[in-house]
Amino acid sequence: MQSFHPPQRTLMGPGPSDVDPRILQAMSRPTIGHLDPRFIDLMDEIKALLQLAFKTSNQLTLPVSAPGSAGMEAVFVNLLQRGDKAIVCQNGVFGGRMKENVERCGAIAVMVQDDWGKPVDLNKADTALREHPDAKLLAFVHAETSTGVCSDTRGLAALARAHDCLSVVDAVTSLGGVALEVDQWGVDAVYSGSQKCLSCVPGLSPVSFSDRAVQCIRNRTEKVQSWFLDMNLIMDYWGSGTRRSYHHTAPVNALYGLHEALVILEEEGLENAWARHLHHHKALVVGLEAMGLAMLVEEAFRLPQLNAVRVPTGVDEALIRAALLRDYSLEIGSGLGTLAGKVWRIGLMGHACNRRNVLLCLSALEDTLLAAGADIHAGRALKAAHAFYALKHP
Ligand SMILES: *Cc1c(COP(=O)(O)O)cnc(C)c1O
Repeated sequence: MQSFHPPQRTLMGPGPSDVDPRILQAMSRPTIGHLDPRFIDLMDEIKALLQLAFKTSNQLTLPVSAPGSAGMEAVFVNLLQRGDKAIVCQNGVFGGRMKENVERCGAIAVMVQDDWGKPVDLNKADTALREHPDAKLLAFVHAETSTGVCSDTRGLAALARAHDCLSVVDAVTSLGGVALEVDQWGVDAVYSGSQKCLSCVPGLSPVSFSDRAVQCIRNRTEKVQSWFLDMNLIMDYWGSGTRRSYHHTAPVNALYGLHEALVILEEEGLENAWARHLHHHKALVVGLEAMGLAMLVEEAFRLPQLNAVRVPTGVDEALIRAALLRDYSLEIGSGLGTLAGKVWRIGLMGHACNRRNVLLCLSALEDTLLAAGADIHAGRALKAAHAFYALKHP
């Protein structure tokens, strides 16, 4: 066995996204003890930076030491007890995982289904809330990475509030990529991931709980069934003040990386980051459409950071992805579930969301599709994207 040296890829799939070299550098700094006073200072800074990124003053804002799925699980195991009822909106893969989580908590999931590729329908959510006044929470995915759809988090959180329900938001792909205003929109529990628009390494899940959600956790009559994800215990580890008690060993160097990712986001400015994602998304779409490809999602609901584009008829989508990886070291994503074989998912997340990658992806995709004999327009995509960039600025 020898040291592992990964190839240099360009990551334009559904995550992980290209990691900023500054983050990798930060992670290679010396490991210190997780109860070292300097590390405790770092933890406080990470909490403050996460509050800025989530736009919240929630005290209980911290990164769970595990990937986005653990953040999801942390939210459900802490808020739900056996026999509780939760309304779960599903319009893709991740709503289905929420249902799994609710049921594994011994709670009842009332499902609100929408087609994959469509946003969550507020009328259907409202009807479910009326029909189930005993529901404890309304859960939904802000940015459905499986389809590239953005749902109306502000509207859904307001609906939940109006029915005295907690709102639970999956913001794994939305944080840092599109507008998310946890306090202003009245979101009660939100979880995200490090490896999408934050462009950090995978394996950390920022979460935030409102005071109402914290009350709900404190009022539990049963212990949280997961010891590791029990926020009552994690609060003592991540809580403020000098009396921090050992819970688990924080992933010290991974947290250097998250800190750097959040510093980079602050330097750019959150709103500027949202604008950058939208700008390059528009250039990509102009190019894809000029090539003759069609987007899956209606324009009003498209996520800038995740572009689902239809595979032309007769084209083997997996062969194209394999050729992109082999010839261009470029990774894009495949369709999931009902969209398997029908779409590609092109990510423009965080550090990977830039002009060079848009142009690389358009030229590589065109070249590869033409070589496969696909019926597309040659020579138009790059011209269209260049024309867009010449006229528009973020
Ligand atoms: C990626 C993703 C997750 C899961 O995150 P992991 O870090 O892979 O566990 C959950 N929800 C959405 C919307 C995602 O895109």
